[in-house]
Parts: sequence; structure tokens; C-alpha cells
Amino acid sequence: MSTTLDVIVAGGGPAGAAIGTLLAGQGRSVMLFEKTTAAQDKMCGEFFSEEGARYLAALGVDLRALGAVTIDRVRLAARDVLAECALPFPGLSLPRRVVDEHLLHRASESGVAVVRGTSVEQLTGALGEWRVRLSDGAEQTSNDAFVATGKYDLRGRRRNGGSQNDLVAFKMYFQLSAEQEERLRGWVELILFPGGYAGLQLVGPGCANLSLLLTKFELKRCAAEWCRVLGHAVASSAHLASRLAGAVQLRSRPITLSAIPYGYRRTATEDAPWYLGDQSAVMPSFTGDGMSIALHSAFLAADAYRRGVPAHAYQTLLARQLKRPVQFATTLSRCMVSTPALAHALRLYPGAMAWIASWTRVPSHFVKISDVHRTSPYASFHRCAGDI
Ligand SMILES: Cc1cc2nc3c(=O)[nH]c(=O)nc-3n(C[C@H](O)[C@H](O)[C@H](O)COP(=O)(O)OP(=O)(O)OC[C@H]3O[C@@H](n4cnc5c(N)ncnc54)[C@H](O)[C@@H]3O)c2cc1C
Repeated sequence: MSTTLDVIVAGGGPAGAAIGTLLAGQGRSVMLFEKTTAAQDKMCGEFFSEEGARYLAALGVDLRALGAVTIDRVRLAARDVLAECALPFPGLSLPRRVVDEHLLHRASESGVAVVRGTSVEQLTGALGEWRVRLSDGAEQTSNDAFVATGKYDLRGRRRNGGSQNDLVAFKMYFQLSAEQEERLRGWVELILFPGGYAGLQLVGPGCANLSLLLTKFELKRCAAEWCRVLGHAVASSAHLASRLAGAVQLRSRPITLSAIPYGYRRTATEDAPWYLGDQSAVMPSFTGDGMSIALHSAFLAADAYRRGVPAHAYQTLLARQLKRPVQFATTLSRCMVSTPALAHALRLYPGAMAWIASWTRVPSHFVKISDVHRTSPYASFHRCAGDI
């Protein structure tokens, strides 16, 4: 076994790469394990909200310079309903395979030892003596451990359910016809259909991302086949049918994901590692805020780490900050699947979509684009602990 590190990070998505970079910047020895060997497409709608783009810029990843597409309007399409409005903030979109690689590159440049193609199989121990067992059979020890494995739980560390657990996700890239691509430019579209909903937006020239969620019940009715799932959505939405007329699928198979615990927020326990990103809270996808939350969790955790605040205090604060947006978004997500009449209300009050977009993200007063907050967000913890 090799020498003990300050920090081990499991997972190299936005949360893992960000915390690695920030802690290496604090002078810590950090080793990050990412199970993929190279850039790959990931399950994601690839919408970056404003705060997400700002956090990325603070880490040295400039989405616009990398060719991100600007998204400034939202359109809701249900059976016979279209509602449109401007987003209350500018969004950007870019494929995750590009963004995640740049983040990992930044982590390496900052001094993180990034180990690709190696999974963390198990994490055991407690503060001061964490031990990971790796997929190649090796072991590594560290003083602190950060779990940022996103959608995948480490063995023995399962997230125990969210409040909307019955959705399955599919993602496919399409090349739209030239006319449809032009019509979609600048928009993120939310398409409701029986038993599910989908998000559609351009992520680059000649490439639109369709990320679709469907209940397990509806999936069974579609015999769990992608072409039938897509057929069901297209048959239920004239809008989607016209968008995809003449479109070409750009992947041979969709990316799929099941068992998504929407609405999950981790509660703090003593002697637990630091949980970040989707391992700390799971925001319904329609909000396009999951990556911002992942980055926010990393900045909040880095600030705590620098101040000597323990993991459980960070976890409690994060859960508190995310309570309102995650609960509200999950309630809406349930309505979108079960009560499509919601779309009629939004047609009458399209401006409500801008309000919903603001209420389903990390509240702006919690967003601090630095890993050193001028006033400590952990002040009450310090007071309780008598450690000011
Ligand atoms: C259908 C759908 C659409 C979405 N659309 C959007 C959107 O448009 N905008 C948005 O902001 N969010 C969206 N999200 C949410 C977003 O994808 C996540 O919130 C975000 O990726 C979380 O980042 P993360 O770093 O926590 O995890 P991830 O991005 O999942 O990264 C985890 C990393 O850990 C690695 N890993 C996993 N297990 C191990 C292991 N044992 N050892 C080593 N490495 C491991 C993985 O390979 C991965 O690289 C969407 C989610 C879904 C399901």
C-alpha cells in the first residue's frame, strides 16, 4: 500500500473534478479516481445554468470559449398546448464529454493525481484513516474522503430513495433538419407526454440533445425498447413529431439510466465521508440545475475544509440550502408526469415558467464563486461548537 494522502476523491464528474482542483489549490495532496478511461457521452440534458457557468469559469473552464450554445428562452409543449417565455438568466449548452474532460484536465494542472480507468470498489474507515479498495485490487489510504460518484452508489453506501423513484432516463443525439435546427436555436424545450417528459435543445452545430424520462409502468408498455419509447413520445406530441421529422439519430443506441432518486437529500451522519453532487442531492432533470448543484457542493465543501469544519456540518448546511428548490422541483416533476393539465395553466401564465426556473435552483444568495467565503456560511455551526 502507498503512503497516506490528505484526500481521496471517488469520481471525476463536475463535483469530483471541482473539489479535487479546489483542495489541491489549498496545498493538499489529492488523488482522484475516475472509472472511465477517456471522454465519453454522459446521461445529461447538457444545459448549464448561469451559476453553473460561473462556477466553471472560476475553475478555469470557459464554456463560451469551448463553443457553448446560448439558450435564453424556454418553450413548454404538451398535446395541444405551447407556452413560451424568456429565461430569467442566460443558459449555455455544451456536450458533457467536452466539459468533463476540461474539468479533469484542470484538476491535473492544479496538482491532483488523476487516475483514469480505475473504480473505487469500496470505501471504509473514518476521519483520519479512510481506505479505498480499487478495481485493480490495490488499496489507498487518506485522511479524508470525498464521494462524488454521481448516479452510482458505492457498495454499502446506497442513497436510500428519493421522493420520485419511478422514472427511467434515455438520451439521444439527433441531427435535425436545417429548418428545425433553426427553429430550435436559442430555446430549451420541455415536451410533456403521457407517462413522462423530455427536454430538447441544441448542444452544438448539427447536434440536438433529447433527454427523455418515462415511468417504469410506461416503459413496460413500450416493451423497454428505445424505438417504441420514442414512438410513444412522438405519437403523443405533434411538436416533437415536427422537430424530429427528417432527423437522424447520431448514436447507435441511447444512453439509459434507471433508479434515479429524484428529490433525495442526504442527511448528515457523524464519521461519514464528504458527499458531493448527485451523492448529496438529486434535483429533477427538467430544471437543468444538477451540475450547478454539483459545483456548488464542491465550493461549499472546499470552504468548510479550509476552515476545519467537519463533513457533517457541511452536509447539514447543503441539505438546508437545497431543501426548498429540490422539494419544489420534485413536486413539479411529479405533476408533469401525472397532471399534464399543468401545461394549460402555463399557457395562460407563461411568465410562471420564468418564476419556476428561478425557484428550482440553488438560491442565488448561497452561490459564492470562491472556495473562501468572506462571511462564514458555517457561522452557526462554529457558535454551537464554541469554535469561532
Ligand atoms: C435525464 C437527465 C438529464 C439531466 N439534464 C441536466 C441538465 O440539462 N443540466 C444539469 O445541470 N444537470 C442535468 N442532469 C443532472 C446532472 O447530470 C447531474 O446532476 C450531474 O452530472 C452531477 O454531477 P456529479 O459530479 O455529482 O456526478 P456525475 O456527473 O454522474 O459524475 C460522476 C463521475 O463518477 C464516476 N464514477 C462513478 N462511480 C465511480 C466509482 N465507483 N469509482 C470511480 N469513478 C466513479 C463516473 O464515471 C462519473 O464520471 C440531468 C440528469 C438526468 C438523469
